[in-house]
Amino acid sequence: MKYIFVTGGVISGLGKGTTAASLGRVLVSRGYKVTAIKIDPYLNTDAGTMNPFEHGEVFVLEDGGEVDLDLGTYERFLDTNLTSDHNITTGKIYLRVISKERKGAYLGKTVQIIPHVTNEIKREIARVAENSGADIALVELGGTVGDIESMPFLEAVRQMRMELDSSSSRSCLFIHTTLVPEVGSVGEQKTKPTQHSVKELRAIGIDPDMIVARAERDIEEDIKAKISLFCSVPVEAVISAPNLQSIYGIPMLLERQGMADYVLKKFSLPPGEPDLSDWKAFYAKLTDPKYSVRIAIVGKYTELSDAYISHIEAFHHVTAATSCRVQTTFVESEEIERKGADAILSEMDAILVPGGFGHRGIEGKIAAAGYARVNNKPYLGVCLGFQCALIEYSRNVLGMKDANSTEFNPDTKYPVIDLLPEQKGVNDKGGTMRLGAHKIILDRESIAGRLYGSESVMERHRHRYEVNPETIADLTSSGIRFTGHSDNGRRMEVAELPTADYFVGSQFHPEFKSRPQRPSPLHLGLVRAALKQKYGITF
Ligand code: GLN
Repeated sequence: MKYIFVTGGVISGLGKGTTAASLGRVLVSRGYKVTAIKIDPYLNTDAGTMNPFEHGEVFVLEDGGEVDLDLGTYERFLDTNLTSDHNITTGKIYLRVISKERKGAYLGKTVQIIPHVTNEIKREIARVAENSGADIALVELGGTVGDIESMPFLEAVRQMRMELDSSSSRSCLFIHTTLVPEVGSVGEQKTKPTQHSVKELRAIGIDPDMIVARAERDIEEDIKAKISLFCSVPVEAVISAPNLQSIYGIPMLLERQGMADYVLKKFSLPPGEPDLSDWKAFYAKLTDPKYSVRIAIVGKYTELSDAYISHIEAFHHVTAATSCRVQTTFVESEEIERKGADAILSEMDAILVPGGFGHRGIEGKIAAAGYARVNNKPYLGVCLGFQCALIEYSRNVLGMKDANSTEFNPDTKYPVIDLLPEQKGVNDKGGTMRLGAHKIILDRESIAGRLYGSESVMERHRHRYEVNPETIADLTSSGIRFTGHSDNGRRMEVAELPTADYFVGSQFHPEFKSRPQRPSPLHLGLVRAALKQKYGITF
């Protein structure tokens, strides 16, 4: 097993995950099997209880793991499915160490960060990497070098290098991602922050093998040479990572600079023949679209675009498949409550109401679904957006005036959306929902059935509430069709309004499985419907 540890310096948010995932893609294109592990130095055991406002979207895996959104980036770039073990947090490690201590597993020893916590970290990284069956494991250390929180992890990986590398063969490689800012009117590229952060890494005992320098523009050759000299890495190991039109261009950028060659040489592995042709074709289509539609994403975490990152990525995948650029506009649902749906949504070509929790902004989302239904605007409702569409329909078509979900009004006379039976009486907030991939049986003669082109699909879930079985008869009596069900037929998974051009809702989250070459079918359907209305193009 070969390990590539990716650290970050200077500031957070440099796109370490995207860089690591892009390196992964390049190595995959050379014929290697690559996996990824993300380390998050926070005390939460998983991302499930974290507010998307603070930390961006909670990504959901096949096995139901609620994880950091970087795992979404790895799945999309490596085209693989990861498990929740691939997101290691301080919380998970400490939980394990403390429960071992309670069981007396440390035989009376004083339990300490070094060696007990660091040993647990090393064991876990090795276990997850080996279980994945990969040749190379990318291990991204979240946070910035110098943070107190990440110290035990850095110490653990320092020890891993010492234990695994020998003078004749390398098993560990360290890549440090830093920022090269530009100052002054001429935009001079400054290397001092990089030098300082490498110094900090050295103080912990880690010499980086490569440096990825993030900057506005390409790093100039003399700046690369300077970084090489001061940070003591060969100049070919200094990689320039300027801002690009799209993150999907990064694998080509890394390949051009010989990053994979350098990594494989260090590991004494054959270089293989790079084949990025599929990826290049995808990128060419993504960056040269012919058409354009505007889609409103109506949510409540709209100030942080990372909160809906998988939807944005799914639309990028759709762009490559349709030649249609999707301009997404975040709409705060409370804004709709204040100004009315008409004022805010009339300029849009389609509407997406994504998942969400809690009461705030809910009436704005219901109004957005109503606006789409009445005006025949293509609509996709995901999870909460699916539930909102059904609440709106019950209120305004079926005349159930105060119809609601019991999540928002426990005393409603018409609880069209209600708790799942297994959720009744559950108080824990973490990991207690219906999570992960479950089978859905689709009606072949339906919009969703045609888009998926299959009778049975696996899609990922994250919810506590669902369509109340007692209201199904009412909903279907006047137009709504449920065209997707759980495999026992009891849960409603997809709803459609056949009279509309595209009015579709899903209880599951199709955005999580969208991939560059396989866009989410329901997002694809939404864009196609918008294209048809705007340009008259039919697929
Ligand atoms: N809050 C809703 C539920 O728990 C929807 C969840 C979601 O949109 N992810 O069912």
